[in-house]
Amino acid sequence: MDGILIMIDTIYIEASIRQHPRVVEILARFPKARQILCDRYTQVFNPKAQNFRLQKQNPALILAEKYQHFVLSAPVGYGIGSQHNYYFSHVLNCLYDCRYCFLQGMYQSAHYVLFVNYESFQTEITELCLANPSATVHFFSGYDGDSLALEPISRFAEHFLDFFASLPNAFLELRTKSTQIRSLLNRPPLVNAVVAFSLSPDAIANKVEAKAPTLQRRLDALLKVQSHGWSIGLRFDPLIYQNDYREQYQRLFAYVFERIDLAQLHSVSLGTFRLPEAFFKKIHKLYPEEKLLAGFFVNQHGMMSYATELEQAMMSYCSEQLLTYIPASKFFPCRL
Ligand code: SF4
Repeated sequence: MDGILIMIDTIYIEASIRQHPRVVEILARFPKARQILCDRYTQVFNPKAQNFRLQKQNPALILAEKYQHFVLSAPVGYGIGSQHNYYFSHVLNCLYDCRYCFLQGMYQSAHYVLFVNYESFQTEITELCLANPSATVHFFSGYDGDSLALEPISRFAEHFLDFFASLPNAFLELRTKSTQIRSLLNRPPLVNAVVAFSLSPDAIANKVEAKAPTLQRRLDALLKVQSHGWSIGLRFDPLIYQNDYREQYQRLFAYVFERIDLAQLHSVSLGTFRLPEAFFKKIHKLYPEEKLLAGFFVNQHGMMSYATELEQAMMSYCSEQLLTYIPASKFFPCRL
């Protein structure tokens, strides 16, 4: 388990899906939660005068239906995958509270939105696979929230893994910092999926990845998933600057590569810190005391990032280190 119990005091439900079997099942799991019906989730989620930081202390769950845009093209330069890269988000917002996360800048609300009409996502995913029969079509989950962290509520992996098992030309990436791996251990591994764990040096995880499992616990989860036969991905993204970042990342890589089985390693990616300026400003306003956001960053064409020289130095150093452990064919440095 994740160590933190998922506490839900309040559940908003779109009235039109009150009888949806997934909604009925979720509500039964939280018998004490206050239930509030609404017409549309956006009435609760979108209003401007909300305080993300305050809500993050006790987010509500919003059960909603998504009507369109189930699957979107992944940003160019995403780095991993193929010519056909898509992402989909059955959930908006995250159980964890990473200070560098763009969700805090993007959304007005910290409540979790769960779109319960999984079948509509699946229809669009199937259509894309059928439209590209001779290609592998990559689908990334974990873009607008961690892929597995809310699994005890959503049963997302449980549903989607069976579905992806039936699509030979689809490839799924689950991206996570979570230890909620039961759905992965309860079934045979998929050959067309990778479980990608985001890892940071301990000192950084402790400072800026609030509520996420420690590095040790993430790695324990990764090793269990790997021994069960799943392909594993490693995501060192975003790289965070510290005075001693070289030692920190060097120690992290040594620690990780001592333990994992390279034969089951699908890919390793490295990413730089990037936030649209407006998101950066908003987060800075929410957390003025946050040291991560002080200094070092520059505005490059509307995106806040480390200055080019520093960014390149960090990328080069970490790339060099990683390539002592893995072949270049498994390495994907991402510069979005
Ligand atoms: S785990 Fe990912 S989605 Fe969740 S808060 Fe951290 S960066 Fe954001």
